[in-house]
Amino acid sequence: MGTIMLGADVAKAMKEELICKVEALKAREIHPCLTIIRVGARPDDIAYERGAKKRMELTGIECRILELPEEIGQEEFEENFRRVNEDASVHGILLFQPLPKHLDVEPVKVMIDPEKDMDCMSPVNAAKVFAGDASGYAPCTAEAVLRMLEHYEIPMEGKRAVIVGRSMVVGKPLAMLLLAKNATVTVCHSRTVGLSSVCRGAEILVAAVGKAKMITADMVGEGAVVADVGINVDADGNLCGDVEYDTVETKASYISPVPRGVGSVTTSVLASHVVRAAEKNASMR
Ligand code: NAP
Repeated sequence: MGTIMLGADVAKAMKEELICKVEALKAREIHPCLTIIRVGARPDDIAYERGAKKRMELTGIECRILELPEEIGQEEFEENFRRVNEDASVHGILLFQPLPKHLDVEPVKVMIDPEKDMDCMSPVNAAKVFAGDASGYAPCTAEAVLRMLEHYEIPMEGKRAVIVGRSMVVGKPLAMLLLAKNATVTVCHSRTVGLSSVCRGAEILVAAVGKAKMITADMVGEGAVVADVGINVDADGNLCGDVEYDTVETKASYISPVPRGVGSVTTSVLASHVVRAAEKNASMR
């Protein structure tokens, strides 16, 4: 049976470090502040918002919520976004996506100050992640996987890492983060031929697909490190990952569960981005 990589352990270690940094900022009269912009009231967004708010409170970061009505027009949405973006007391912004269908996110992706862009919506931050420039902000979930591997001291250099999923929020940026750690990275997707055998060759296997329990034990090499990003509901209505946990657990050397895995680290990464943004802002004064 493998070691279980628990998000709470990673978050706890990060919290101690963040509290020290926030205290140091506050001693200089700098109060780190995140604004979450939510359009409408999707249950997923509200659940994440609750977790994010709690995480910010635990680390001493102010968390403001801007809730906009679902039926808001494009112009008014952009005006609200602009106001937050230009507010000097706000160090970081998180916009929940996807937006309602009638709204276009593209103008605000360009508008957002890259220094306030906490979840990599700006093309400037995406370019930095792809250029291996650590001064940018990677998507929180992708970075959460890396933080988890680092916390459990998983060697990455020279290791065969396979990521299943190539989205811009998880798979692709994570591939760049692992590459920056000198892993040898393969990215799989829905058109990959021989997925099972590619996955079996992985020393580090990351599932970011969005399909309940699709990574089965026969797809995992003996002793592999398995990180599960998926958040799904199984046939019995229970929350589960992309990995068939019960069978894979017996083969993996390390494995992250769902829930209580990668997802629990995401808001800590968000908090670390806000602190970094506040520190950068302070150094420019
Ligand atoms: P996404 O945009 O839907 O991307 C899914 C990826 O999986 C795509 O690249 C797709 O390939 C690939 N895929 C689909 N079916 C496949 C198959 N049968 N074999 C191989 N690859 C396949 O999803 P996402 O936004 O990256 O999210 C992935 C999962 O992570 C979801 O369960 C989501 O809920 C979860 N998630 C968790 C967090 C968190 O905080 N923990 C945050 C974000 C997302 P193609 O590109 O070819 O279509």
